[in-house]
Amino acid sequence: MKRLVLASNNKHKVAEIKAILSDYEVLTLNDVGIDVDVEETGTTFSENAYIKAKTIYDMIGMATIADDSGLMVEALGGAPGVYSARYAGEHGNDHANNLKVLRELDGVEMRDAKFVSAIVMIDSDGAVYSVIGETKGKILLDYDGEGGFGYDPIFYSYELNKSFGRATPEEKNSVSHRRKALDNLAILLIKKN
Ligand code: IMP
Repeated sequence: MKRLVLASNNKHKVAEIKAILSDYEVLTLNDVGIDVDVEETGTTFSENAYIKAKTIYDMIGMATIADDSGLMVEALGGAPGVYSARYAGEHGNDHANNLKVLRELDGVEMRDAKFVSAIVMIDSDGAVYSVIGETKGKILLDYDGEGGFGYDPIFYSYELNKSFGRATPEEKNSVSHRRKALDNLAILLIKKN
């Protein structure tokens, strides 16, 4: 079984990526004894995913994968975008982030949005693979469901016809931005081998 180190400390992302990459042995930063919080200084999801993957690859020289992802709301000009995790200021405060998006869309009818996942894999031979996945939906008027993480409870998926907050992990993983990015990665890896 091929081994990959996942350059993330986000336990929700780790669980989703492990479930989707079931053919791989996915090691976490904890598993390989690395404790770093990589600063995301890029201006795009792909740049940030590369920064995370490269930092970890340079530390251990094993095949490494990183995801940088977020929500883009059309009426907000693509915000929160790369600032998704820290939109309301406090890093990782999902509730404050959700309330900020709901407040900014107060009275706004056009609520189309998408989740984007940029995934970068650096293979053990140093080859770099960069892919993107997207899934479309709209921002609800209020919370709906308690599943998932981040913006899931306020995101209505056009593919599932329900909010990600109400979707089972299997349902979300079957249509998510992360799933699509990983499918695109699999296509690149098949071409390589
Ligand atoms: P990152 O760790 O810098 O990539 O930040 C990702 C942030 O985007 C998370 O903290 C969430 O706020 C949001 N996000 C990314 N993917 C998802 C998802 O699948 N559901 C809900 N929110 C997500």
